[in-house]
Amino acid sequence: MNVADSELVEALLKRESYKPAPKLEDADAIFVNTCAIREHAEKKVHSQLGRYRKIKLKKKDVIIGVLGCMAQSLKHDLLENKPYVDIILGPDSYRKLPTLLNRNQSDHSSQVDTTLSRFEVYDNLFPSRQVGINAWISIMRGCNKFCTFCIVPFTRGRERSRSMEGIVAEAKQAVADGFVEVTLLGQNVNSYNHNNNKFHYLLDAVAQVPGLKRIRFTSPHPQDVSADMLDTMARHSNICNHIHLPLQAGNNRILKRMNRTYTRNHYLALVRNIRKSLPGVGISTDIIVGFPGETEIEFQDTLEVMNEVKFDSAFMFKYSYRRGTKAAEYEDQIDENEKQNRLGKVIELQKYHTLERNQAFIGREETVLVEKVSKKSANQWAGRTGSNKWVIFNKEDAQIRDMVKVKITKTEGISLQGHLVSQAEAA
Ligand code: SAH
Ligand code: SF4
Repeated sequence: MNVADSELVEALLKRESYKPAPKLEDADAIFVNTCAIREHAEKKVHSQLGRYRKIKLKKKDVIIGVLGCMAQSLKHDLLENKPYVDIILGPDSYRKLPTLLNRNQSDHSSQVDTTLSRFEVYDNLFPSRQVGINAWISIMRGCNKFCTFCIVPFTRGRERSRSMEGIVAEAKQAVADGFVEVTLLGQNVNSYNHNNNKFHYLLDAVAQVPGLKRIRFTSPHPQDVSADMLDTMARHSNICNHIHLPLQAGNNRILKRMNRTYTRNHYLALVRNIRKSLPGVGISTDIIVGFPGETEIEFQDTLEVMNEVKFDSAFMFKYSYRRGTKAAEYEDQIDENEKQNRLGKVIELQKYHTLERNQAFIGREETVLVEKVSKKSANQWAGRTGSNKWVIFNKEDAQIRDMVKVKITKTEGISLQGHLVSQAEAA
């Protein structure tokens, strides 16, 4: 999401003839696009800002800006404790950046705008992208779900969707610019709704964009996975057979306390339904351990659901206290060591599941999009299956952006290895 937002900011600045600086030290203005989702992300921003402060000590005219989610929640702290920050802009205010930059050159006081909009979707702004394989396309912004642990509804505001025409036009432009894959982005992509066009209509329209080999999307919310969405995925071979389905926790009391709106059984039934509708689908998830009040027995329920589903992969997090959220008011916060201990357990279990899932691929022929040179060897390509597994194989005559068939021969770490069988039909 932040990569996509940074591309919007870059586009806005390029319109005004600003150019990217080759090195941080050479820049006349430095912006950091921030994330407030967990404390860890915020700490990284604070240490980045420390670096920028040192640059400003040597070069006093450099303009420093904090953009995105942290701007919203930390503006007072930034104004009081980090006076070297010149510009603070929330995620709905990027359009103001060129004006504020100009203003800052005459008036050196801090410029702040963190108002949230009910309408801003940056619909007519084409992001400035580096040439590549995958183009991120933001389709909706904000979130109305208010999970009790989550800062997003406060930092990014209310849910709103972009027009289907705007999204399809951006996908066509991405193809014209050499991209072969798009990833539709949103806090809840599948609650997309523009003039009553739901997410599956949008998927259907994007899948018909000529030249688009692959469509991915993230993150859908379990509550909004519809039969229409699964049907549409099944009907189009260029919509990747992968669903990221955040579980968060496996215990009903905790799920309720998180305000996740589904129970463990709902979630498990949904997984069965997805696997029935989309054979061979890859399912990944997000898990939070140590949510306030989570007992050891309740934590075991998360492990049980993991054992039942056997996710292909997972992002696993210790609960992070976010000031202003409902869960921050709960008094039964879990001890840091205990959270760490539980995190270790979920990571260990997920390793087994990833291995088990990956081993099932050995001997199969998979369609892979050639994405980049493998980190291990300059003679090998790395690409993904539709189900989102990385596959490493000898280059032979395959080229970047080709869809190829690869026979899987072994698994290593989180990726698969194989050898080229043939060029696959482009989708
Ligand atoms: N909208 C998506 C998730 C977006 S945030 C959904 O609801 O499924 C990405 C992930 O960050 C979440 O799924 C959650 O696992 C994690 N996360 C969010 N807030 C968190 C917090 N306070 N502590 C730890 N993890 C958190
Ligand atoms: Fe946060 Fe996702 Fe819940 Fe929205 S649905 S509040 S983004 S975790």
